[in-house]
Amino acid sequence: MTQRDRTTSSPDSPVDVIVVGAGFAGLALLRSFRDERGLTVTVIEAGDDIGGVWYWNRYPGARCDVDSTDYSYSFSPELDATWDWTERYAAQPEILSYIHRVAELYDLRRDITLGVRVTEAVYDEQADLWVVRGDDGSVVSGRYLVMATGCLSAVKRPDLPGVEDFTGTVLHTADWPKDKVDLVGKRVGVIGTGSSGIQVIPEIAPVVAELVVFQRTPTFSVPAHHYVLTDADRAAIRTELPARRERLRRSSTGLSVPANPRSALEVTDEERQAYYEEQWNSAGFGFLLAYSDLLIDQAANDTAADFIRGKIAERVDDPATAALLSPRTYPYGAKRPCVDTGFYETFNRPNVTLVDISASPLVKVTETSLHTTTSEYGLDVIVFATGFDAMTGSLLRPDIRGRGGQPLRQHWASGPLTYLGLASAGFPNMFVVAGPGSPSLLGNVMVSIEQHVEFLADLIMSSRAAKTPVIEAEPEAEAAWVAHVNRLAQGTLYLAAASYYLGAEVPGKPRVFMPYAGGLRRYRRECEEVAADGYRGFRRTSTAEGN
Ligand code: NAP
Repeated sequence: MTQRDRTTSSPDSPVDVIVVGAGFAGLALLRSFRDERGLTVTVIEAGDDIGGVWYWNRYPGARCDVDSTDYSYSFSPELDATWDWTERYAAQPEILSYIHRVAELYDLRRDITLGVRVTEAVYDEQADLWVVRGDDGSVVSGRYLVMATGCLSAVKRPDLPGVEDFTGTVLHTADWPKDKVDLVGKRVGVIGTGSSGIQVIPEIAPVVAELVVFQRTPTFSVPAHHYVLTDADRAAIRTELPARRERLRRSSTGLSVPANPRSALEVTDEERQAYYEEQWNSAGFGFLLAYSDLLIDQAANDTAADFIRGKIAERVDDPATAALLSPRTYPYGAKRPCVDTGFYETFNRPNVTLVDISASPLVKVTETSLHTTTSEYGLDVIVFATGFDAMTGSLLRPDIRGRGGQPLRQHWASGPLTYLGLASAGFPNMFVVAGPGSPSLLGNVMVSIEQHVEFLADLIMSSRAAKTPVIEAEPEAEAAWVAHVNRLAQGTLYLAAASYYLGAEVPGKPRVFMPYAGGLRRYRRECEEVAADGYRGFRRTSTAEGN
């Protein structure tokens, strides 16, 4: 039987759990549900191989910006014992190798169907089953549906007239070709300066003939301080791993970087500058944790933003270019901050040009060029580093229908409605990992994934044991959770930026703050309290057939 044949199970032979997506979340679900809980699981994956974002995002320079050790599964001492990271921030090929290693170690591939994109999932109320269809015509049914489709996976391609007429090469960082792309000596335009743009730009600048960077909004970035791990580093990591993992589990961010409890405003200017300098020289992503109020107090935030702008001015030779690269329209951290290796210095190269497309927007592509309102740029390659339809894109692109045939698209028409970020009222037995309403994007997503998987496994197993396997978020619990998530965001500076946290990345998307801003520690506690309270907020019933 081929992998593809396996999905063509009829609705008469349902599995316990259908998982959509074979990235970090999908694989963790499969291992936990199948090997620890004894459930039958089938995973459906659109890519031709496992890995999720780490399968698709193969652009030059792609690597994680959380320490590799922290960006890995914590469930298995056996896995830890046989894996050593080579670099502080693992590059995409190494992360993919790690994912392959996990699949091999736990024999995961036998329950994964590759190359099938889920187009539709419908809840059959008579049978209390999800019926899931793939783009190859396959149908699979199961009691539970878990969307492990990622919050940053639905690729966003701006609607630029004429792209199809371009005779050169058009690429997207999040859908980079598997075969090597030869950029040597080419004239390349990169659109976008988020985390992906910031990684690809310095990587390709030395090899291309000309690099034109089209920037709409400048990004705050601090040095990554990337390095190759030595044997001594690895030995030290191994020794402290159990304690480090426990610290991460109990932290608010899921990061190893300690959060400073002090306010940026309670110290002298000299003390603050010295501390920022120290953090700048070591913290990487953790620079955001330099003071406790950077994301809640504008004056505190200004001190960090000013410091970073000062560093940009030091790193970029041309003052006009430095000014263009310096964010001034939103607080530091209100859009997802970046860490970089040589990003700003790249603009000192003679073959690199920065184009401000907020002043002169892109208007069209012709056979040979990209046009702004004021200029034309002849290019051989256009790279879209324009990101994703974040958080909801991967959940709303398939047609998901719950009770009474209600489309999720309709239920979420004014923004995503979830209970704990995990379930939605009217969509029984459908769950989401790292979805809207959960902290996912605001911390180390690996820590969130593992917590969600454990919570869902316990919820499902206890409901089955109680002969009430149909689990549904109560509308009141959902409404209260959405209000809670909103309230948490109200106390922050997140609302002061047109970010993908708020749905601002896609024209017409509802402007709702989607992630849970209370931190991983508080979220975990809230989930634990819900479980201890008999899974308060979830209605659990037997099936229509009385099972
Ligand atoms: P992103 O952060 O959303 O950045 C997209 C960039 O493209 C922004 O500069 C955006 O400008 C620009 N853009 C979008 N639409 C545009 C349009 N129509 N015209 C012109 N410019 C446009 O996307 P990303 O860089 O792919 O990163 C997404 C997320 O993936 C990151 O925040 C991070 O969570 C994750 N990621 C992580 C890593 C890592 O671990 N190191 C690496 C890459 C990505 P505006 O700001 O004006 O919208």
